[in-house]
Amino acid sequence: MKYVSTRGHAPVLGFDDVLLAGLARDGGLYVPESWPELSVAEVAGLAGRPYRDVATRVMAPFLGGGIDEKLVAGIVAEAYARFRHPAVVPLRQVGDNEWVLELFHGPTLAFKDVALQVLGRLFDAELTRRGERLTILGATSGDTGPAAIEACRDRHSLDVFILHPAGRISEVQRRQMTTVASDNIHNLAVEGTFDDCQDLVKAIFGDLELRERLRLSAVNSINWARVLPQVVYYFSAAVSLGGPSRPVTFSVPTGNFGNALAGWVARRMGAPISRLVVASNRNDIATRFLTTGVMELQRVHPTSSPAMDIQVSSNLERLLFELLDRDAGEVASLMEAFGTTGRMEVPMERVVPVHDVFDTTTVDDATVARAMGELYAASGHLVDPHTAVGLGAAALCHTDPTVPIVCVATAHPAKFPDTVEAATGVRPELPDHLADLFDRPERCTALPCDLASVRDYVVANARAG
Ligand SMILES: *Cc1c(COP(=O)(O)O)cnc(C)c1O
Repeated sequence: MKYVSTRGHAPVLGFDDVLLAGLARDGGLYVPESWPELSVAEVAGLAGRPYRDVATRVMAPFLGGGIDEKLVAGIVAEAYARFRHPAVVPLRQVGDNEWVLELFHGPTLAFKDVALQVLGRLFDAELTRRGERLTILGATSGDTGPAAIEACRDRHSLDVFILHPAGRISEVQRRQMTTVASDNIHNLAVEGTFDDCQDLVKAIFGDLELRERLRLSAVNSINWARVLPQVVYYFSAAVSLGGPSRPVTFSVPTGNFGNALAGWVARRMGAPISRLVVASNRNDIATRFLTTGVMELQRVHPTSSPAMDIQVSSNLERLLFELLDRDAGEVASLMEAFGTTGRMEVPMERVVPVHDVFDTTTVDDATVARAMGELYAASGHLVDPHTAVGLGAAALCHTDPTVPIVCVATAHPAKFPDTVEAATGVRPELPDHLADLFDRPERCTALPCDLASVRDYVVANARAG
């Protein structure tokens, strides 16, 4: 399998190079040259198989010789052995024809572990083979940082620098990062906001000489290898509920659109999916784009589902590429307009075809709290506020009641104990493996909100270059 950039001016690469490149050199995102398809018999053959086997089967056509298939099978088995549920991503029935797909049984209790546990190992295997090193740099508002650190700890080929806004993330989230005692992990507490941290990271990536020298890379969902492992659970869940003969609908809480895009890819490949509900909180750039064809930046509004409080849904660019029949020139000019003016528009007739797949809804904080409270009262189950955005959207979309609806659960409720307690009266507890989190020693470097200080720290501590 070869990969092309959505903007058409970057080299065509194999999976191994796409993995290490992350963003394409022309500013676009890498996508496979064509979408592989599984036959109905092949989909049926996934039923009853262990999750790691489903993952290996679904991911195989995307590797295409770039990385050895057996190596990936080993990586997948190791990554998912760390999940604390034998089904890895269990389905829990919460209503007549309603399920919750629990993606949060990984080491940091966030669905980002599903992809990052694979990605960290893929990075390490490929860099070790090449005898190279990489520097991972990122900013976190809470969920991505712990998952990235846990995925990359003790990996000799990687140095990881994660900026967080000092005093502005929860204590659980901070401790999940700062208690990792590993020489290649660097936690930087910056005196500023999350946006300040993002700006510092962007400024360092913008220094092209430094970027080359330190082999800077990112682990967010601009990297195709991070979207790919997320395609798998759409297959496994649909098949568990009776696919391929009985299609299901998924409701997906959406921020960067990586998870929703993975659902679209699964459907394109032949997963028995009826519809995908794209569920936004008040920060609704993705749902606005899908309903109006206008992609427009607005100010970020803080909500009770903070991992979705973002302005730019990067993965919409991959969908846009498909909406425009893979016209990379058109994607490049629209995205450049969006980059400079904060607005671009696609004719509605280009967007309407995906309404066969996507329902879109925005859910406010009051509805989120009500969804958590009602679910607890009806079934005794607690869900986190992000998952509740999906539950609220599923209820609002009035999808066909004869089609099973699966709400994708993206975080463990104990990551957001205050919000869950306020909505349900019950305080969710951390699982056993994190019970001593508050007793473990912390390691963290405090830095002023200043480009030179952060850059100098990274340069002094990165081993690449
Ligand atoms: C990252 C995240 C999301 C959003 O996922 P995207 O792929 O960015 O749309 C939703 N919920 C939680 C808990 C997350 O950490």
